[in-house]
Amino acid sequence: MPRLKTDKLLVSVYALHGDTCSLAPHCKSLGCASGCAPDDYVLSARFAYLQEALDYAEAVSKRGVRVRLISRIVPTASYVSDYPKAVGGRNGQA
Ligand SMILES: [Zn+2]
Repeated sequence: MPRLKTDKLLVSVYALHGDTCSLAPHCKSLGCASGCAPDDYVLSARFAYLQEALDYAEAVSKRGVRVRLISRIVPTASYVSDYPKAVGGRNGQA
């Protein structure tokens, strides 16, 4: 019998609150229930494998939401990647 094992889900994808909230950029003054500021990155999903997370981050960023992917699979060298990927500019600002 194969065993079902729980993974540590070491790859996290964060979405920029300001790109997902209808109150942004006035979250603070309008009392956004999330308690988040427009420039907060909020945990959106966690993955066991880097490739899944890369695909997810790519898909979310294509819908106009800025995303930060952080992998802690290698504890001594965490991998950070911002989406959308830069096209000419450093942070992908169109
Ligand atoms: Zn908000």
